[in-house]
Amino acid sequence: KDFRNSVKPNWCPGCGDFSVQAAIQRAAANVGIEPHELAVVAGIGCSGRIAGYINSYGFHGIHGRALPIAQGLKMANRNLNVIASGGDGDGFAIGMGHTIHAVRRNLDITYVVMDNQIYGLTKGQTSPRSAEGFVTKSTPVGAIEPSVKPLELALSSGATFVAQGFSTDIKELTALIEEGIKHKGFSFINVFSPCVTYNKVNTYEWFKEHLTKLSDIEGYDSSNRDLAMQTVMEKEGLVTGIIYQNTETPSYQEKLDGYSDQPLVDTELEMNKERFDELVKEFM
Ligand code: SF4
Repeated sequence: KDFRNSVKPNWCPGCGDFSVQAAIQRAAANVGIEPHELAVVAGIGCSGRIAGYINSYGFHGIHGRALPIAQGLKMANRNLNVIASGGDGDGFAIGMGHTIHAVRRNLDITYVVMDNQIYGLTKGQTSPRSAEGFVTKSTPVGAIEPSVKPLELALSSGATFVAQGFSTDIKELTALIEEGIKHKGFSFINVFSPCVTYNKVNTYEWFKEHLTKLSDIEGYDSSNRDLAMQTVMEKEGLVTGIIYQNTETPSYQEKLDGYSDQPLVDTELEMNKERFDELVKEFM
């Protein structure tokens, strides 16, 4: 079960995305699946390259569309473990609509966001996760809007699994992704994954200073949604660990009336060649 391949990532030395890649590989090995039982679907951005760096099925999609592709994949082949992945620009700007609907749909896939609070691939513009006042070439006098709050957003959209990790803590991050893969429903995992080249504010040191581990908060109960929301708001989203998990709500597939045990990809199409040719002609 080796999820490493021979492709050398071309991320900048020190980029947080290396750890996310390693954590996904370790988590997949720890849950005991084989490379052919995993598909990684990515969007566009530095983080989007991850789909080619893991020894599994990989799909490098289009900007902001990793989630629709990943959900379609899972619907067609329920036997695959599907991980969608991308950056904060991909998931919270162009892909925001898909993110909210995927969360509330609760299809059994895992979504790992590499949140570096800037656009790295296009050389350092303000992203939806950049803080108010954040100065880049696209906001030279500072960002005017407040940043998107992904944890509150997921919690208020009906998420059944919300977690957050930090690139330097691979042990915790691996455990979070492992739990996300095992969760029967949509698991949303935001990861602080610093961009060492363009984001000189939200650095590794900055996160180390500001992050709180939920395991260090006495009495924290990840099955209590109100407590999760209250804690996330009080800590301004700067927490790591499993923030909320609801194991009672059935996944989309489980709710789907008549959903066959047989994956769609293994189902014979009841259509002969003549009828298929007729249909093709109709569309031409
Ligand atoms: Fe990573 Fe930033 Fe370099 Fe992109 S530009 S590879 S996000 S460090």
